[in-house]
Amino acid sequence: MYVIFFGPPGAGKGTQAAIIAERKDWAHISTGDMLRAHVANGTDLGRRAKGIMDQGLLVPDDLVIDMFLARLEELQADQGFVLDGFPRTLVQAQALDEALSKMGKAIDIAINITASDDILIDRMLNRAKDSGRADDTPEAIKTRLDVQKPSAELLSHYRNAGKLKDVDGLPEIPFVTMAIVNALRADGDDGVARAGK
Ligand code: ADP
Repeated sequence: MYVIFFGPPGAGKGTQAAIIAERKDWAHISTGDMLRAHVANGTDLGRRAKGIMDQGLLVPDDLVIDMFLARLEELQADQGFVLDGFPRTLVQAQALDEALSKMGKAIDIAINITASDDILIDRMLNRAKDSGRADDTPEAIKTRLDVQKPSAELLSHYRNAGKLKDVDGLPEIPFVTMAIVNALRADGDDGVARAGK
């Protein structure tokens, strides 16, 4: 299956994407992790992205799209994936659709993990204590909450295609995982963990 995880920063999409990818033996593609690796390795992309990320702003579409498409090309034809942090804009969603359709494929389901602002701020401030991330300062956290919630137009893109499922991100991690597994099953996943479909 090809699955997207949406959610505001702090909703737990990275945590849930990692759990689901591990269980199903799907690739976990996190553009945030990929960008942080570029920064750590001092690549050209990393140098261009660092200041933007540290402020909590979005890295320009063309840079993120090129990085993502290169990763997509590395996947085996039958390898399922979970996208975490991509697409974040409608332009990115269109690039994703186009790349998949060239491969004769399409996104199966987009899971939208929801949570209220006060919960998100609490969680992010808590994580900031030991994350070591340069964008976990109170100012950058505020900016990320302001600019990084999935936009209405991005969610509509998948809702209109009948692919969006909302999942409440408030309960404890295993309960959210259960709700996601149920949503995937309702969409045709047979629950058997294996690579690909
Ligand atoms: P969070 O854990 O706050 O949800 P991520 O780890 O997904 O954040 O991303 C960290 C940062 O990387 C973002 O604040 C943004 O600057 C950049 N980034 C990640 N994915 C994208 C994307 N698809 N488009 C633009 N910028 C991105």
